[in-house]
Amino acid sequence: MTKLFSKQLSSQQPLAAKIFETAIANNKLAKSYMLAGHANDDKWQLVSQLTAYLNCANINSKTDSSCLISETDMETGNWCTNCRWIQTDKHPQALIRLNGENSKSGKIGVEQARAFAEEVSKTSPYFRVMVIENAHQEILHRPAANALLKTIEEPRSKILMVFFAQVSNDVLPTIVSRCQTINIASNQYKECLSLSSPNTSDQLLLAKHSDTPQLKNLTASLEKFTSQGSKLTDAIDLTECIQSSIKEGFELDEILDFLITKDLLCLDNICASEREARYAKELFLLGQIAKEQSRHYVSDKALVETFIFAWHKLKQTGINPLKLQR
Ligand SMILES: [Zn+2]
Repeated sequence: MTKLFSKQLSSQQPLAAKIFETAIANNKLAKSYMLAGHANDDKWQLVSQLTAYLNCANINSKTDSSCLISETDMETGNWCTNCRWIQTDKHPQALIRLNGENSKSGKIGVEQARAFAEEVSKTSPYFRVMVIENAHQEILHRPAANALLKTIEEPRSKILMVFFAQVSNDVLPTIVSRCQTINIASNQYKECLSLSSPNTSDQLLLAKHSDTPQLKNLTASLEKFTSQGSKLTDAIDLTECIQSSIKEGFELDEILDFLITKDLLCLDNICASEREARYAKELFLLGQIAKEQSRHYVSDKALVETFIFAWHKLKQTGINPLKLQR
């Protein structure tokens, strides 16, 4: 498969890497993505390595990796101009950011959003990736978001919109519904993952804990839960297993990222088929709802139960039962 990302990044963000690589391999890149999670550095790395891949002049029959991940040095290696510019954040067109830094309120101004939309409507020889650095609604508020909607809905070809958010629930639904959301693994999880080999991404475990009985139980429990013909009792088992992991000192966010990542990495053709893309999106959303609730002092027990039973329902019916209530 085409290699878009560095080994290190692929091991830190296996799911995001797999989703983008599958999309490119199948020529099914979505028009807009939302990268949801706290690891901002990883989001930037994903975006710049992807942008480099889409614009690199050195990609040819001999190599299908951009200069950025060619393992040569920018100064000494034979890097193309596009990759040099992208690496030093100086590319005038391929990678464009929109943020609220220049306004007093910190919000993205309506005029600014309009100018951005206008920029996008021009033709360009480059594949342009437009990054909205913080899509939370206090930054990307409704009037500014409205100025972007047409661009999101009818983008020109060779344009990719990427919205960054910590939690997708803080983003206006009009934006979320138009994006494919990708969960960015949290930092604690990242530390654990970076210890595991990047080449075994479909057998990822929290390497640091991989020998602990607790993680073995969790993995076994997940496998039963996600197997064909799993029963309600498997859901109850998994719920209990998560709760005892929390008692053992595992972070809830870490467990949720682990379970979701592991389940989605098992899909053969992740996000290439509409059904899988929808499943992934709804499962991310369930994870986000649970994480958000945990910050509002909902008890772990209650939210784990809600999460698992909603997941069970989603697997059976393809419908996210929590979405209906929101
Ligand atoms: Zn290049």
